[in-house]
Amino acid sequence: MNILVATSEAVPFSKTGGLADVCGSLPIELARLGHNPAVILPAYRQTRYCGLPIEPMGIDFIVPIGSKTVTGHLLRSTLPGGQVPVYLVQQDQYYDREELYRSDGKDYIDNCERFVFFSRAVMEAIRLLKFPVDVIHANDWQTGLVPAYLQIEYRGMPGYEQIASLFTIHNLAYQGKFWHWDMLLTGLDWEYFNWHQMEFHGKLNLMKTGLTFADSISTVSPRYAEEIQSAPFGCGLEGVLHQRRDVLSGILNGVDAKQWNPVSDPHLPVNYGPDSVGQNKPICKAALQKEFGLPEREDVPLVGLIGRLCDQKGFDLVVEVIRERVEEMDLQWVVLGTGEPKYHELLQSLADRFPRKVAVRLEFSNPLAHRIEAGADLFLMPSRYEPCGLNQLYSLKYGTVPVVRATGGLADTITDTNEDTLAAGTANGFSFQEYSASALSETLNRASSAYSQPEVFNQLKATGIRQDWSWTHSAGQYEQLYEQTIARRRQAVGA
Ligand code: ADP
Repeated sequence: MNILVATSEAVPFSKTGGLADVCGSLPIELARLGHNPAVILPAYRQTRYCGLPIEPMGIDFIVPIGSKTVTGHLLRSTLPGGQVPVYLVQQDQYYDREELYRSDGKDYIDNCERFVFFSRAVMEAIRLLKFPVDVIHANDWQTGLVPAYLQIEYRGMPGYEQIASLFTIHNLAYQGKFWHWDMLLTGLDWEYFNWHQMEFHGKLNLMKTGLTFADSISTVSPRYAEEIQSAPFGCGLEGVLHQRRDVLSGILNGVDAKQWNPVSDPHLPVNYGPDSVGQNKPICKAALQKEFGLPEREDVPLVGLIGRLCDQKGFDLVVEVIRERVEEMDLQWVVLGTGEPKYHELLQSLADRFPRKVAVRLEFSNPLAHRIEAGADLFLMPSRYEPCGLNQLYSLKYGTVPVVRATGGLADTITDTNEDTLAAGTANGFSFQEYSASALSETLNRASSAYSQPEVFNQLKATGIRQDWSWTHSAGQYEQLYEQTIARRRQAVGA
């Protein structure tokens, strides 16, 4: 199959979250399965300096944006490993900026225009590259217009007649909502601006557009696929999702074993595998304690947290538990993240107040993320909602025991520890249901008590390390989904 993955992020070219991990890894696995994938994404400033060779292709194109025309250029690179082509859309006025979507905490005011342009560029690239696409795999609101352009404008053009489209939701909370006049930028007729298609409470909604026009819809875990069909997880789009439930499915993300593997991870003080975890993980822990200025104690469980500092990730609970119970709980906390200013302030003040127990780094650092995954005993993700979550999977691979709220992908991947699951050998972490500080601290207490029973804790670590969360399994599921999507499109064409 010829698969074009249209995305606004892909590792190592650009990243703000899990979307980038998925779009950088899945195509490599698809190529391994014998398919012919390609990736297309904007050439941001961080993309141009990602360290991989990027070449101009001498291909320019012009597309309409509202009442003007805008020129772009195609550049070419490959995903690491060198097999999967990556096409980069260069338009410096739109993409040569400090950050991907926002600056100083505020979204760029022309975000709609930037991704109308990118979506149009994707459609033009198919023709210009002479890439015989069977299925376009669009991702999140930034590419929500791609299925719409395919259906409304390009369907009649040679080469586009049979192209199928899959739209994947990575996080439904970010929908790309813009004022209604931005409809003019899309160039699509106002007839589509209705509550069944592109309009949402008077606004243009690019996520809804993708959901409406794609042949198939997927999201990044089976549980989240269920959850988003009702409020509050559906974030207002539960009606559309429920209506399209026959074409909606969930596929868990996988772990990129080249990036996340304690056996070969270049960021760790020592490497380890299943046989050396007992001996070498404590070395990683001691080094992490030292790096963060915490007392080098083996007997106290070290809790790691990495992520966007926002309400979604449950940082309100984290702050409450640390503030209220830090003295009674014998735990050390290491937090790495950036996000909402209120959490920067709250976490920094807790670290200042309790320097022997709480340490924070308010930055984005991939090497540090790796060292925390290796050095922590427990990895905490008390998310309000979590489409898939990647850090809990990395933790399992690194022998770090996840403590999670049972929602979305966290519920699909973490089996709570109790007598039954321990006996069955399926327990790999700790989870709780109720979104509250008391449920979180009760679960942390259970995890701490398991930590003080080496037999139990070693079993949990060993179970996590042994489980296979590689892309191989998920890529096989995407393969089937692409086939179904293509069949669905052929049927529609036939009809
Ligand atoms: P989301 O996409 O909702 O942010 P995921 O768990 O799916 O959450 O993926 C987050 C990814 O971003 C992980 O690879 C995680 O390690 C990484 N990440 C998040 N914040 C940071 C940070 N401050 N420093 C380094 N890596 C980070």
